[in-house]
Amino acid sequence: MELAYSEALPYVRSISPYQPGKPITELAREFGLAVGSIVKLASNENPLGMSPKARGAMLAEIDGLARYPDDYELKRSVAEHHDLGMERIVLGNGSNDLLELIARVYLASGRSAVFSRHAFAVYALATQATGAECIEVAAHEFGHDLDAMLAAVRADTRVVWIANPNNPTGTFLPYAELKSALRRLPEQVIVVLDEAYNAYIPPNEQADTVQWLHELPNLVITRTFSKVYGMAGLRIGYALTSAAIADLMNRVRQPFNCNNLALAAAIAALDDQAFVERSVALNAQEMTRLCTAFGRLGLDSIPSRGNFITVRVPKAAAVNLALLKQGVIVRPLAGYGMPDHLRVTIGLAEENTRFLAALETALRGR
Ligand SMILES: *Cc1c(COP(=O)(O)O)cnc(C)c1O
Repeated sequence: MELAYSEALPYVRSISPYQPGKPITELAREFGLAVGSIVKLASNENPLGMSPKARGAMLAEIDGLARYPDDYELKRSVAEHHDLGMERIVLGNGSNDLLELIARVYLASGRSAVFSRHAFAVYALATQATGAECIEVAAHEFGHDLDAMLAAVRADTRVVWIANPNNPTGTFLPYAELKSALRRLPEQVIVVLDEAYNAYIPPNEQADTVQWLHELPNLVITRTFSKVYGMAGLRIGYALTSAAIADLMNRVRQPFNCNNLALAAAIAALDDQAFVERSVALNAQEMTRLCTAFGRLGLDSIPSRGNFITVRVPKAAAVNLALLKQGVIVRPLAGYGMPDHLRVTIGLAEENTRFLAALETALRGR
């Protein structure tokens, strides 16, 4: 083994890299397909793109790119949007950045973090990159088992990662149950409530978790502009927490972690509720259509509150390959311990139609 490799920190060497959804350009190269003919339903991106207002704000910002970013205005907009003080807000280069900031503040060798099996892959990655120990707790019907997670907390545990809804399973913890569990956690344990898919939760199941911050000093809520706001490529998100935790996160944050274009677009996106509503309505309608189609094909899917659905497909790896050959990219979940499942992002009606036709072909050829 090369010395440069063997001398690296052992906990870094043991990390398995994040596996992103296959890029459209890569599939086009591999199978000689036209880029425009490919349907990508693999990374939970918004099929409507971003709000036209956000796009306009970004174009208007181009001439300001010679200057370092000033994140004051977005912080102020987020503060106003959630009726919170600005000192409680941390901006991130995507919410992934925020997860890493939390890990850097609270985790190191000799400490541990708790998360559920089949939870978002970044929790393990962010934990391992600090040298802390991962405590993975068995799932309950593919979702977080809160009682088991609480029971797994040790004296050296400093972070509990919770995604609600969870990715890649789409499972959702009802808020009454979640809040009661959070109240039972020891105060030295930071709870990260990752709400990347918050906007997609049906109105009758919504709760204002931001209000919980006034009662739970150890809570960090993360939100992102990557999903319902359609800005995954811009890399911007935020955390809402106590002033003390925000202060600590800001100490380890790169001074200019969010770029000018992302800041300008995010301010405009927060101001375009109509776009969010359009995106959520399309998602609900197409989710119903996909679920019905899965039922007709005799496939079981996991009830999802996100902008994606995870379906059980026997011989999922072969079906995935057959989909790729037809120019349709979905997400295989073997890396999440779910080798018989595929995760499909809810696309535009015509994209979902393409996917379903390709799926039927793939199932017939199996
Ligand atoms: C997509 C996603 C995120 C957001 O990632 P960004 O870094 O903001 O693009 C965070 N958490 C979960 C569970 C996700 O699925």
